[in-house]
Amino acid sequence: MMDTRIGFGYDSHEFKPGVPLRLGGMTIDHPEGLAGHSDGDVLLHAITDALLGAVAAGDIGSFFPPGDPRWKDADSAIFLNLALEELQNAGFRIVNIDTTLILTAPKISPIAPEMRARVADMLEIDIDQVSIKAKTPEGLNLDQVAQCHAIALIERMVEPDDLKSMSEVIESQRQLEDVVEDLLASVHGVPKKRAAEPVYDTEDIT
Ligand SMILES: [Zn+2]
Repeated sequence: MMDTRIGFGYDSHEFKPGVPLRLGGMTIDHPEGLAGHSDGDVLLHAITDALLGAVAAGDIGSFFPPGDPRWKDADSAIFLNLALEELQNAGFRIVNIDTTLILTAPKISPIAPEMRARVADMLEIDIDQVSIKAKTPEGLNLDQVAQCHAIALIERMVEPDDLKSMSEVIESQRQLEDVVEDLLASVHGVPKKRAAEPVYDTEDIT
């Protein structure tokens, strides 16, 4: 039986002029960027929280307190990488990631394929395991804000110990079959399959 977990992450940052826009680990040509203690990559922050949440390992703030000067303007790939390590240490791997960005501009659909490839690369998974969707904040009056929702499905990796116990089961299955065949042979005179002799003498038919 597959052992799966699910994690959810949410983040938001405000647009600010004169700041480079970082999204999905990419620098995007845009007049405004996202203000934050780190590089403000709202997409990577939401994914980081989804991964940490899936293994109940806390959230991005518990690992990287916003007041810590080490994370000032930090590349958010560091946060994502830590979440991936936490997940792997807990014995899990990613099944898939789905995200929705909510922002007025820039348009995400033209750059989504490149962004998906970049995120997949950082998470050591295939591009078809990463979905990045976007919509505008209709009716929310949040034109100066970028929000992101992310969800991650993960599954437990098969450990070497599991493989060992599986082969032990197969071996004991073989031994059981041998015992059954011996019993059949002694009670009913049914010949043992494994020790079966040819029914004719090959010498006779030459
Ligand atoms: Zn953030």
